[in-house]
Amino acid sequence: MKTNQPPETSEKPLILVCNDDGIDAPGIYALAAAMDALGDVMVVAPIDEQSAVGHSITVRDPVRARPWRFELPSGAVPAYAITGTPADCAKLAVNHLLPRPPDLVVSGINKGPNTAVNVIYSGTVSAATEASILGLDAVAFSLCAWNPDDFEPAARYAEIVARKVLQDGIPPGIVFNVNIPALPFDAIKGIEVTRLAHSRWEESFVERIDPLNQPYYWLSGRFVNLDEGDHTDLEAIENGFVSLTPIQFDLTAHDLLAELRSWDWAIADRRR
Ligand code: MN
Repeated sequence: MKTNQPPETSEKPLILVCNDDGIDAPGIYALAAAMDALGDVMVVAPIDEQSAVGHSITVRDPVRARPWRFELPSGAVPAYAITGTPADCAKLAVNHLLPRPPDLVVSGINKGPNTAVNVIYSGTVSAATEASILGLDAVAFSLCAWNPDDFEPAARYAEIVARKVLQDGIPPGIVFNVNIPALPFDAIKGIEVTRLAHSRWEESFVERIDPLNQPYYWLSGRFVNLDEGDHTDLEAIENGFVSLTPIQFDLTAHDLLAELRSWDWAIADRRR
C-alpha cells in the first residue's frame, strides 16, 4: 500500500521540491520531473499561487497539508498542497512531513525572473532560504519569462546544478539563486557565477474607484537596472547565460562593523 511519504531509508538522496507559483504550476512539475532522475522526490508546495510573498510565514491561522496527486512519467510521487506560504512549505516539510532530512531542497521553477532586488520579494527564493536556515542545501530556480511555454531547457539546467550540489554541497548559510534565460537549450551558453545587480522598481499606484465609491490602489511598476558593473545576474541573462548567484541570509553589513564600532556611541546614549 502506498503511503504519502518517500521511503524512510533509501540509498538515493531525498529531494524536497517547493515553489511559490502553486502545486499545479507547470514549472514545479518540470522541476520535480528533473529531480526524479537524481533521487527520491517529495513535493510540498502552496495550494494557491504565493508569488511575491517574500519570506512571510503563517502564525495566526492554521496551516493545512492536503495529500495531492502528483503524477510524473515514472509514477506518482508523494506530495502535499499547503494552505500557506513558500517558507511555510519548507518549514512544515522538513520539520514534520518528511521521514528523514532531505539531502537537497529545490524551489521553482518560477515563472519569471528572480534576479537583482527581486530576490527580496520572491517566494521562490524564500522557500530555499528557509531550507538553508534549517541547515540544508537549497537552490532556487527561475525561468526568465512571464508566460513561458517551455520549461524543459530550465529543467535540464536544474538537473545539472542539482547533480553538482548533491555531489559537492553548498557552504552553510548560502543559497544558490539560479535564473535561466528563456532560450532553447542549445542556445544557452552555459552557467555564469554572478552577483545580484543593483536595481529597483520605479513604482506607481493606479487609483480606481470601487462600486462603493471608495478609492483602491493597484501596484504597477517599471524595473530599472542601476548597475553598470560586470558579472551581474542581469548581464548574464542578457548575454544568454544561466546565472548562478550565491546569496546569504546573514544581512549584517560586515564591512561596516569596524567603522561603526569606532563611532562615539556614548554621546547618543541618554541613559548616561
Ligand atoms: Mn512565482
